[in-house]
Amino acid sequence: MEILKDYDLNKLTTFGVPAQAKYFTVLERESDLKDLFSRQEFKENNKMFLGGGSNILFTRDFDGIVVLNKIKGIEIVGEDENSVVVRAMGGEVWNDLVLFAASREYWGIENLALIYGTVAAAPMQNIGAYGVEIKDVLSGVETYDINTGEKKLFSTSECELGYRDSVFKNKFKDRYFILAITVKLSKREQKNISYKVLQEYLEKNKITISGPADISSAVSAIRRSKLPDPNTIGNAGSFFKNLFITQDKLDELLGVFPEMSYFQDGDQIKISSAWLIEQCGWKGHRAGNVGVHDRQALVLVNHGGGSGEEIKSLALQIIASVYEKFGLTLTPEVNLV
Ligand SMILES: Cc1cc2nc3c(=O)[nH]c(=O)nc-3n(C[C@H](O)[C@H](O)[C@H](O)COP(=O)(O)OP(=O)(O)OC[C@H]3O[C@@H](n4cnc5c(N)ncnc54)[C@H](O)[C@@H]3O)c2cc1C
Repeated sequence: MEILKDYDLNKLTTFGVPAQAKYFTVLERESDLKDLFSRQEFKENNKMFLGGGSNILFTRDFDGIVVLNKIKGIEIVGEDENSVVVRAMGGEVWNDLVLFAASREYWGIENLALIYGTVAAAPMQNIGAYGVEIKDVLSGVETYDINTGEKKLFSTSECELGYRDSVFKNKFKDRYFILAITVKLSKREQKNISYKVLQEYLEKNKITISGPADISSAVSAIRRSKLPDPNTIGNAGSFFKNLFITQDKLDELLGVFPEMSYFQDGDQIKISSAWLIEQCGWKGHRAGNVGVHDRQALVLVNHGGGSGEEIKSLALQIIASVYEKFGLTLTPEVNLV
C-alpha cells in the first residue's frame, strides 16, 4: 500500500473546494486494512475515511491521513421464498447497489436511487429520500475498530439510526471503519409511492409500476430535474437538515407565519428548512464564488473557485438569520472538517 504525502483533495469531494491531506492512501481490498493499521502514518495521525466525498466540506487542510475506500463487491448471502439478504462492500457506489437490486426485482431501496456516494456512508447518516430510509432495510453493518483493528458487527438497532443520524456520527465518531453492510430486500412487491412528488410524477407520466426499476427510474428522473449536478456546480445536496419542532412552537409560528409549510412525520412535526431559508431571502444569494442555489434553498454551492471557509461562513450567516427571524437553529447535514 502506497501512502502519499501532501495530497490534493479538491477532486475527491463534490463541493470541489481546495484542501490537502498530509497523508493519503487508497484501500482496494479488505486485506489492505491490516497493512494500514500497522503503518506509522496511520497510528500517529488523525484519521479520516472518504467515500464519494458527497457529504463533506473541507474548511481547511487535513492534518492527518485521509483513506479513500474503494473496496468493492456485492453478493447475495441469504435467501428464502420472500426475501433476499444482500451484502455490499463499503466502497461500492450506492446507486450501483440500487441498480443491482432493481434489475433482479428485489424491493426496498428503489426510492433511494441516485443518491450520491458509497455504500459505507449510507448508514453513517441513515440516507433517505422519497419516503424511505436505509434504516427500513438495513440488517447489519460490518466494521473494524480502528483502535484495536478488531472486527465488530453492528445490528441495526446498535446503529441508533435517526433522521440523517447514527451512532457513527455521535458516540462512535471516527472510531470505526465501515467495511460492508447487509440489507434485507423483498422478493414480493413492496412499493412505497406515498411521497407526493413521486406520486404526481407517476400520474403525470402515466407510469404503472411493474417492478422496482420503474420506481428507481422515476426517482432518478425527478432527482435529475430538481437537484444540481455536482459535476456542473459544486455542492453536497442539502446542506442543512429539516427541523423537528413541538406543537407549541408550531402554533406560535403559525400565528405569525400562517403560510408556513410543515409535515406530520409520525408523532413529530417536521418543518422545511428550505422554506425558512427562503423566507430570510437567501435563495439564489451569491457571495463571491459561493452561494445558495437559485432553485433549492437547502443547497449551498461552489460556483467555482470558492473555498470551504467561504461556504462555512455563508452557512453560519444563514443559521444566524434563521435564528433571528424564527428562533430556530438549523443544523448542518454535511460533515464539516
Ligand atoms: C446532489 C446531491 C444530492 C443528495 N441527496 C441526498 C438525499 O436525497 N438523501 C441523503 O440522505 N443524502 C443525500 N446526499 C448526501 C450524500 O449523497 C450522502 O450523505 C451519501 O451517503 C454520502 O456518501 P459518500 O460516500 O459521498 O460519503 P463521504 O462524503 O465520502 O463521507 C461522509 C461521511 O462518512 C464517513 N465515511 C465515509 N466512508 C466511511 C467508511 N468506510 N467508514 C467510516 N466512515 C466513513 C466520512 O468520514 C464522512 O464523515 C446528496 C448529495 C448530493 C451531492
